[in-house]
Amino acid sequence: MKAAVWYEAKDIRVEEAQEPVVRPGTVKIRVEWCGICGSDLHEYAAGPITIPVGNPHPLTGVKAPVIMGHEFAGQVIEVGEGVERIKVGDRVCVEPIINCGTCSSCRKGLYNICENLGLHGMSGDGGGFSEMTVVKEHMVHKIPDNMSYEQGALVEPVAVALHAVRQSKVKAGDTCVVFGLGPIGLAILQCLKAAGTTRIVAVDISEERRQKALSLGATHAVNPIEQEVAGFVRELTGSGADVCFEVAGVEPTLASAVDSVKVDGQVIIVSLWERNPAINLNALVFKEIDIKGTICYRDIFPAVIDMIASGTLESEKLITSKIKIDDITEKGFEALLKNKNEIKILVNPKA
Ligand SMILES: [Zn+2]
Ligand SMILES: [Zn+2]
Repeated sequence: MKAAVWYEAKDIRVEEAQEPVVRPGTVKIRVEWCGICGSDLHEYAAGPITIPVGNPHPLTGVKAPVIMGHEFAGQVIEVGEGVERIKVGDRVCVEPIINCGTCSSCRKGLYNICENLGLHGMSGDGGGFSEMTVVKEHMVHKIPDNMSYEQGALVEPVAVALHAVRQSKVKAGDTCVVFGLGPIGLAILQCLKAAGTTRIVAVDISEERRQKALSLGATHAVNPIEQEVAGFVRELTGSGADVCFEVAGVEPTLASAVDSVKVDGQVIIVSLWERNPAINLNALVFKEIDIKGTICYRDIFPAVIDMIASGTLESEKLITSKIKIDDITEKGFEALLKNKNEIKILVNPKA
């Protein structure tokens, strides 16, 4: 079978891979669509970030080269011994978190901050950029018949967004700013709208992305190159934003988020960082700002599936291209790096 395999930064090869074998308690899935994630892009552009190189991952024993892809949906084609909840023929998406189950986070149910957190498609024995993949039964979520596989592939990134919003202090009636309008930023915006916020200011240098944000429910859009965001937000609100979401992962947007938030407000950091940013800690101290990071999601896939299936969240509007696996470098990773109009690119591993 074909698979896209990460060897090192700028070196992802589409090659023949061994078909994965079902083990007891696991499920084999024929992948229909798998999205390219911002974190995949970081691994392509500047990795390794979370892909194990040298030392294998403590839970999976896997190290590079690894099959990538963790945002996928498909159909179950085989189930291992002892699997009861999932049947052959089920349409499913996958929650790709790999956790130990025994560390203090896992014992508290906070499995997304497991001490040895891994991800199927980063540090697991397989990934969604392949025709077939095998995962443990508990990682599999059924999707309803009225949900397309394309929508199914978007459950994972939307889960990141919904988790970030649920972890924040956001309340109905709030003003929020979203910095960075990639797929996660645009999904956060839709979750904020669903949560009853009054004003959502969307910030990005791409005109196309700002337009997309306005069409998805942002009340205002700002180009940070033309307009100082904090000044704009203060003029709009008098005091600043209640909560800012940093989804761009670069120093100027973090600074701008800290400037834009009101006293006693909150900045939620959802990005991964290729470089450590400088931060004005006095601004934090004098405004008693709360800064919080969020990673992945936990116990949230069923809610996300419902939001998408019910139309509360229009995930398919995030899709800008659908490509074949053979084109994953040029029309996938390179396109995302060069063309900011691209938002979510889905890959068909069978073609
Ligand atoms: Zn992802
Ligand atoms: Zn753990």
